[in-house]
Amino acid sequence: MKIGFIGLGNMGAPMAINLAKAGHEVSGFDPVARPTELTLVETAAIAAAGADVVITMLPNGDILRAVASDIHPLMNANATHLDCSTVDVDSARAVADAAVASCLNAVDAPVSGGVGGAASGTLTFMAGGTKEGFENVSELFDIMGQKAVHCGPSGNGQAAKICNNMILGVTMIATSEAFVLADKLGLSREAMYDVVSTSSGASWSMNTYCPAPNVGPTSPADNNYEPGFAAELMLKDLRLSQVAAEAVDADTPMGQAAAALYTRFVEEEDGLGRDFSAMLPRFETKSRSENT
Ligand code: NAD
Repeated sequence: MKIGFIGLGNMGAPMAINLAKAGHEVSGFDPVARPTELTLVETAAIAAAGADVVITMLPNGDILRAVASDIHPLMNANATHLDCSTVDVDSARAVADAAVASCLNAVDAPVSGGVGGAASGTLTFMAGGTKEGFENVSELFDIMGQKAVHCGPSGNGQAAKICNNMILGVTMIATSEAFVLADKLGLSREAMYDVVSTSSGASWSMNTYCPAPNVGPTSPADNNYEPGFAAELMLKDLRLSQVAAEAVDADTPMGQAAAALYTRFVEEEDGLGRDFSAMLPRFETKSRSENT
């Protein structure tokens, strides 16, 4: 396929490189990043013109909307705009509507798996759009990832992503605060892990990504909380979940509390640039009386 790839940052560059390595003709554009392993062009318009599929991997919904309005008029009829950025559901749906109005297919397919998954081609894609649009780009998902789930119409990929990450943020906080309570009750972290990871408190946050160093499988906690998945990216996703919850009047008190706590951690404490599991050492420095 002829592929235009717009947004070659930490995630986009390795995804585009994997597509090129698999034999696709990739033209990449980014105003800042210049990965040497790719054929680069000078504008998004050049990357998009004549492509079968244009992939965007951008920081937020406003930038996505701006890029989409530049490239849609230049794309071939029936080409596909595949957006893999994490953005708000409204932007995803607005961009998909604009694509359809320009006789294009639109698929929103945010990812989980992080920079490591992008480099190794093991991302998970959660996709919104028509079945036909999804099937048109399935072979690209197979190269960039290990799993792609069609979640329904446009915007549903973003909906799945923010619901998943709202659960993740909440369970990471719950797991971290429980470890600190266990410390104060004299329970060893190893015993806590052995019980919870095989009991009803189990979760991905405990079992796979344990926030306590030297406990459970290797995780960022064992590497001084180097990300991994940075706290500010978790905050971005929690905020998107709350924007969406407000828009549809969904009651999400735990998601709201998690967004407030990660805001404090990133903006007022030492969370910026640390893995999101550094919530555990954060709780170690706090006491109950400070919060009442
Ligand atoms: P990044 O900041 O490294 O890359 C974004 C790139 O977009 C930058 O290189 C920037 O120059 C480029 N860009 C900005 N404006 C542009 C424009 N108008 N035209 C073309 N390019 C433009 O971010 P990232 O970590 O690669 O993340 C990209 C997306 O993936 C985000 O939506 C993020 O939330 C999501 N995501 C990131 C991770 C992760 O672990 N980094 C995991 C899952 C999802």
